[in-house]
Amino acid sequence: MNKLLTGAILFLAIFMVLLGMIFIIASGMENIATGAAFVIIAVILFIFSYRTTKIEAAKPSVVNQTFQVKMEGSGELKEKELRCKSCGAPLTEKNLKVVQGGVMMTCPYCGAVSALEEAPKW
Ligand SMILES: [Zn+2]
Repeated sequence: MNKLLTGAILFLAIFMVLLGMIFIIASGMENIATGAAFVIIAVILFIFSYRTTKIEAAKPSVVNQTFQVKMEGSGELKEKELRCKSCGAPLTEKNLKVVQGGVMMTCPYCGAVSALEEAPKW
């Protein structure tokens, strides 16, 4: 359902309400009945357009959500964890080597090679 059609239905509904009003104002049993019929049709059209608009709005047309995953602190943690076990020198990612699934780090200062163990987070 596009907006143009919904607008046309609304316009028709308003037109029918006005026409119904004229009939009701004009009075006379038959005129009031005709006017009431117009108003009822108009109300149905209003509900119809309202419902279609609501359904349209309920549809997940475009998901405009931006997922902001903050990697805060991960860099700092790495630097804290990466220290030579024998001399305590800070090690960078350049000193890391993945050997057989395990991460090995070689100290550029003292040459010590040690396996990087993931520190438990408790
Ligand atoms: Zn070292």
